[in-house]
Parts: sequence; structure tokens; C-alpha cells
Amino acid sequence: MGAKTIKFNTKTIHGGQQPDKAYGAVVPPIYQTSTYAQTTPGGHKGYEYSRSANPTRTALENSLASIENGEFGLAFGSGLAAIDAVIKLLEPGDEVISTNDLYGGTYRIFKKIFEKFGIVFHFVGMKSIDAIRDKINSNTKLIWVETPTNPMMNIIDIKAVAELTNTNKILLAVDNTFATPYLQTPLNLGADIVMHSATKYLGGHSDTVVGALVVKNKELADRLYFIQNASGAVCGPMDSFLVLRGIKTLHVRMQRHCENGKAVAEYLKGNPKVETVYWPGFNDHPNYDIAKEQMKDFGGMISFVPKGSNYEDAIKIVERLQIFTLAESLGGVESLAGHPASMTHASIPKNEREKSGVVDALIRLSVGIEDAEDLIADLEQAIG
Ligand SMILES: *Cc1c(COP(=O)(O)O)cnc(C)c1O
Repeated sequence: MGAKTIKFNTKTIHGGQQPDKAYGAVVPPIYQTSTYAQTTPGGHKGYEYSRSANPTRTALENSLASIENGEFGLAFGSGLAAIDAVIKLLEPGDEVISTNDLYGGTYRIFKKIFEKFGIVFHFVGMKSIDAIRDKINSNTKLIWVETPTNPMMNIIDIKAVAELTNTNKILLAVDNTFATPYLQTPLNLGADIVMHSATKYLGGHSDTVVGALVVKNKELADRLYFIQNASGAVCGPMDSFLVLRGIKTLHVRMQRHCENGKAVAEYLKGNPKVETVYWPGFNDHPNYDIAKEQMKDFGGMISFVPKGSNYEDAIKIVERLQIFTLAESLGGVESLAGHPASMTHASIPKNEREKSGVVDALIRLSVGIEDAEDLIADLEQAIG
């Protein structure tokens, strides 16, 4: 059976993988080497220097391409290194339209690094496709989408944005970190590039920092590979191994993240001390229909605002949590809680972040795969 016809739960384990050529090792070995012996100059077995390529990284890159239904995977030293490579496709004067409530680090690299090289960034609410259309002009070269968005859990209609980009010859990149290919595959919906912080759900165990890009188009893959090799922000063999191992249980973990996410979201919604809960699985979520259409389930990321709370009250709640760990990051087996205004989104000016709903009292949860009853009891004692 060809790699193209196997289903997702099989791809996570076998996609793009073959037993190691040297000894038949079932698990790709950690090729902890920088260089490779040559019999004559250029006479090598496909690898010459580990910035350019490394067999453990290749195994991960093939797995990434497989699970995202792409053709080419590229693994980087972090999610931000992957984003950095995408923006380096552009020239001074080119314009990018991006989601307005996106990951704080993405906002920071766009504004603080690339703006000074003459790339222009527009941040718009992408709940409405018209808002995107209004910003498109002849310099628009890339649309950057994150869905569900961080931390407001807005849902962006990838297919509708792809129709815009395809008719206007604009690249569409989707940060698929929150959803993972278990929930949605943007390349199938018309995106050109899928980006991941594999640090999160793909790795899944909060033990490494890795980034990824997946594309279908060979020419685009070649341009990105050139940047990856020329800029050098590659991921190492040990980190490649860890993410490969994580991907093998992605479908099982995601299933539980979704179940627990639903239980926690419903508990919060029923709690009179909670003002608002942001989770795309509620049928009164503004883009519930699109979420239902483009995602298989609704994930384990939830944000909420406790009633009558300010900045300090929210901090007190996250400090009281005992099973949820107060920490940056998300997507691991363990539940984490964060306070975006002081943590992940502190680099976004207060007036900017409040425009998109990231108020001082907002709390973000990455619901892990522990027992849901324990998680709910923990929230109950912390919210008080
Ligand atoms: C964490 C994260 C990133 C950045 O990835 P790193 O691996 O931390 O560099 C980008 N986008 C989203 C949605 C993230 O959660």
C-alpha cells in the first residue's frame, strides 16, 4: 500500500519511514555527526554536512510531509526559525497580511526584525474575508494565517482565504501549531505552506524546541531549502528523534486532548464565576460552523476570563493552580496555564492586544491528557 493511501493514524507511525539502511533499525538512529566520509570528492551516500542534511532530520522531514499531506518537509531549530525562513522568501517593499491575534513571537519577528528590512505587515481580524480583501494590493505577497488563533481561539476559514490568495497569486502560509494535522490539513484546503512549532503538540512532551514547514510545490520547497541551508537554523539529530517519537502518538494524544478540552470548556462555561470562555467547540462560537467544517474536533486549547477580575486577580488564579503548571508553551501531555498579558503576549502593546480581546484578566489553558475530573477540581479550587 502506497504512502499516499494510508490513513492518518498509520501515517503518524509509518509515514515517510523505512527501516534504517545500515542495520535495519526500526527506529531511525540519532546520527549525531556533523560530517560524512567521502570516497572521492563528492563521492558520498547522500549526506555531506549536517547543516545541509542529516539522516535523522530527513526521517523527521519525511514524517512531517506525510502527516500534513505535503510533498516536502523542512525541520528547523524552532518554530520561529521556520517563520524566519518563510519571510526570507520576500523582498523589501513586499507586503504581508496577517491575523491580528497571532502568537506573540510571530508578531515580534514581523515587527521588530523584518519591518526594518522594508517588509510591510498588516494585522487584520480575519473572521471576515472582506477585511483581508481590503488590504490586498499589488505588493501583497503573503498571507499569514493562524487558526485557531492564539489566545482568542478565533477560527479563520482557510479555504476562503485560499480562494483569495490563489486568484491573486499570493502565498498562503498557515501556522498549524494549535490544530495539528490530526484536526486540520491546510494544504488540502489550498494553503501553500504549513508551519509548525513542533515544540508543542507534534513533539508533545515539552522536552524540545523544533520548528517545521511543509509544502507541496517543488519550486517553493527548493527556495525554502536554500534558505534553510544558507541561514542555517536547522534542528539537530537528537531533537529530530524526539519529535519523530512524539508524532507516533499524536493521534492518540490529540483524541484525549480534545475529550479533556471539551470537559474543561463545558465546566468553565457552567461556572458562574467565569465571565467568558473561548473555545471553538461551543455552538455559539462566532465561527463554529467553519470550525466544524475544517476541523475534525475542537482541540484542547481554551481561554477564559474570570468574572470581575483584573490583572492581579488573574495572576492569583494561575498561581493557585496545582495540577495545571503555570508555564509558557502548550501542547504537551501535562496541562499548562498561562496569563497572556504578562507572558506570551507581553511583547504586544496593551492597546494592540486589547483590540483583539487579550484583556488583562484573560487566562489561557493547554488542557493535557491527565484525568479530566482532576483538572476540573483543580480549576474549581483556583477560581475559588
Ligand atoms: C510556540 C509557537 C510558535 C513559535 O514556536 P517556537 O518553537 O517557540 O519557536 C509559533 N506559533 C505558535 C502558534 C506557537 O504556539
